[in-house]
Amino acid sequence: MPRPALTVLLASPRGFCAGVDRAIQIVETALQRYGAPIYVRHAIVHNHHVVAALEAKGAIFVDELDEVPADGRVVFSAHGVPKSVPAAARDRHLHYVDATCPLVSKVHREAERHHRDGRQIVLIGHAGHPEVIGTMGQLPGGAISLIENAGQAETIAPPSPNGADPGGLAYVTQTTLSVDDTAAIVAILQRRFPAIHGPKQADICYATTNRQAAVKAIAPRCQAVIVVGSPNSSNSNRLVEVARLAGCPDAVLVEGADAVDWQRFAGLRTIGITAGASAPEILVEGLIDACRNHFDVTVEPVSVATEDIAFKLPRELVT
Ligand code: SF4
Repeated sequence: MPRPALTVLLASPRGFCAGVDRAIQIVETALQRYGAPIYVRHAIVHNHHVVAALEAKGAIFVDELDEVPADGRVVFSAHGVPKSVPAAARDRHLHYVDATCPLVSKVHREAERHHRDGRQIVLIGHAGHPEVIGTMGQLPGGAISLIENAGQAETIAPPSPNGADPGGLAYVTQTTLSVDDTAAIVAILQRRFPAIHGPKQADICYATTNRQAAVKAIAPRCQAVIVVGSPNSSNSNRLVEVARLAGCPDAVLVEGADAVDWQRFAGLRTIGITAGASAPEILVEGLIDACRNHFDVTVEPVSVATEDIAFKLPRELVT
């Protein structure tokens, strides 16, 4: 019996960004240069497949630095770390390499500059996410107030270090937020605090922006959208939300082809596929191959941007 026809709209850009690529290269280069084990504080990027592949090569993932032995080498994850973490590593004379994405480091420097200029800072982000913990940990407690949504933007009453000075307030954001939700939150802050300082261009990174634009381009034409990514990946979860808001209510996050409920897709004619910034392309290829087991598949690439960004490795790994 012939298999039913299925058109797969394949979003581009999708998958690995320059920051994730660099973080993985840092662990792999450290393993080649120094040998196993290389300790990694937290998931280097939020993808179980990536973490398992690095574990197989000799990486050991730990939650805290005190799990790293005295002579161990440790890598900090792409999401960034509070200042207290490298300080603790130095106290213990650990060898460490910081794999913080340069675009996250840029937000850290922005926050430091605002603080030096005497401004109270509002961080737009998700409580508990490692990037938010890292950004808040760049400055002393109380210097940064976190807001997560428009409702909190309407009610926040941040203390101003300059008393009544309306210029004494600034905002920065997590890099992996919804572009549209964040614009709405920023608009509220700007209405309530017209002199608030902010980045010239949003802190949401190019990769998050492009992946959301690509899923927006395919969603209205899709009966379902599959986002490949891990449940703890912020930017992957945002892609699901963006797909739903852009016209495809049936958008799901899966870790890979094994997690797809094919019954749910029976009878569909057009689906979209994309992947979060920490999801390797091999998982997308596996998903398309699995589609071919159930359907007569035609893949239609839909590209909204070309990416050619690459970040250098830290000096200690290239000299
Ligand atoms: Fe860097 Fe953006 Fe990738 Fe995060 S999603 S690692 S900020 S490029």
